[in-house]
Amino acid sequence: MTDSIHIDGSRGEGGGQIIRSSLALSMVTGRPVVIDNIRAGREKPGLARQHLTAVNASAEISGAAVTGAAVGSRALTFAPGEVRSGEYWFSIGTAGSATLVLQTVLPALLLADMPSTLILEGGTHNPWAPPIDFLREAYLPLVNRMGPHVAVELDRCGFFPAGGGRFRVQIQPARSLAGFDLCERGEIVARRARILLSNLPEHIARRELETIRDRLGWVKDECRIELVASAGPGNAVLLAVESEHVAEVFSSIGKQGVKAERVAQIAAKEVREYLDSGVPIGPHLADQLLLPLGISAWQKPEPQSANQTRRRGGSFRTNPLTAHSTTHIDLLRQFLGITIDVEDSPDGKSCLVRVGLPNS
Ligand code: ATP
Repeated sequence: MTDSIHIDGSRGEGGGQIIRSSLALSMVTGRPVVIDNIRAGREKPGLARQHLTAVNASAEISGAAVTGAAVGSRALTFAPGEVRSGEYWFSIGTAGSATLVLQTVLPALLLADMPSTLILEGGTHNPWAPPIDFLREAYLPLVNRMGPHVAVELDRCGFFPAGGGRFRVQIQPARSLAGFDLCERGEIVARRARILLSNLPEHIARRELETIRDRLGWVKDECRIELVASAGPGNAVLLAVESEHVAEVFSSIGKQGVKAERVAQIAAKEVREYLDSGVPIGPHLADQLLLPLGISAWQKPEPQSANQTRRRGGSFRTNPLTAHSTTHIDLLRQFLGITIDVEDSPDGKSCLVRVGLPNS
């Protein structure tokens, strides 16, 4: 059996991403992983419900032998078997982010033998996690550019604290992931502001839209309010910027005690920074793209196939890296043994990230 790799969960940010990406990489490479000091950098360390669901979902799709899978656990061992495509249903049981569970199991299923269908239940619009709209409009189109095809259908929104959101995911796998280079954004072709509102007074959404129009100058046709079904109250501001070469989605989730104007200002500020910096990839998309690009760089060319000419790894231009991304880069370097170079622009306002060997 392949030797286990040891991952220190307290490195860098010391958050949940280290666990999710370690599980994803363990399933893709077949290498067992031992993680300790889980989420040592967080106020409540150890596995939370959302991370535990990701561990159990990973164990289910890969028939893994696992120890330490419990809420609060600070150490985990995970030895995957063969990844099995198929139909799966994963429910968090709380309002924890279901999109982060998808993030964990997706890489292995992208490279499985057969298609898969997943139903995920939990939060769909959580603070500090990718809203389902971000996955659908920004992240998955880039994953699909790498060869597989993933489609997401939202049945019901889930907001904190009631949860109860649900979405379906159809995955058509590919034998390998082709990399890409994304260094230019191109012209902006569309801008869309959507305000989601569930079981809350409509003036909240109207005030948010007014703030967006005021801060960003987006016109009426580019802005809409969507009254959505959900188990409890909820509100999300979703701002999409579609350009020639890429689409980005910035978001802010409404919270009791935070004024509607403030919720909208947070998302508008992120859009402003993105537009001003001129980069194609914003901070969250950069963080999340590192995983499939890292896998693409790590995969060996398949002998005697068209894939011999496949682009391995890739590059993109983004804003200066967050601590979250640098932690992720360290993990990918250690786990996959790949090269990831980061070159800051002379003005310090952006950087170029190159994933994979320079000549790969
Ligand atoms: P912890 O409580 O340990 O922070 P966590 O499991 O929530 O745990 P993080 O390590 O903070 O995890 O990772 C959060 C993930 O959500 C990252 O991949 C980050 O890029 C993504 N994310 C956070 N906010 C957004 C957002 N507004 N849009 C898109 N993605 C987001």
